[in-house]
Amino acid sequence: MLNLPSAYCPQCGAQAFHAHCQKSLICALCGFRYFHNVAAAVGALIYCQGKLLLVERGLEPSKGLLDVPGGFVDYGESIEQALRRELYEELQLSAEQMIYVFSQPNTYLYKDVEYHTVDSFFLITLDHLPTLVLQESELSGYCWLSLDEIKPQMLAFASLKMAVKHLAELQVLPD
Ligand SMILES: [Zn+2]
Repeated sequence: MLNLPSAYCPQCGAQAFHAHCQKSLICALCGFRYFHNVAAAVGALIYCQGKLLLVERGLEPSKGLLDVPGGFVDYGESIEQALRRELYEELQLSAEQMIYVFSQPNTYLYKDVEYHTVDSFFLITLDHLPTLVLQESELSGYCWLSLDEIKPQMLAFASLKMAVKHLAELQVLPD
């Protein structure tokens, strides 16, 4: 069940705001209901010369662990637009070809609130190593690793652990 820190109804202010089902809260007094729906997020599997690009998270959650470039989809954006925006913000990388490969569910704990997401992963294959300019407010580094070198404990999120595992099995990567 949902466990949000405040039990006060945001509409009428009564201390009667309780979990109603797995993803919603309801006010017993005024009937206001809030849905904590699944959020869309996107991740780039950028593959070049046999290696995958990973970025080091500079912020919580999972600060210091490795992630792929990406993030939450903004209001009014397509998933593809969100990925292009995130790639430019995080790395100043302009991606031309991106191929959707799979999605994975994930949870994201931020300031004691657990957000459920569905992360869509896209494969971007590059011939040459790109010049990357890191968004230092969010990321503390990046590295290129072969799939053999990537261990689950190095990765920030469950969805990414599954994505890397699937990527190795799917045979979508160039030789
Ligand atoms: Zn209320």
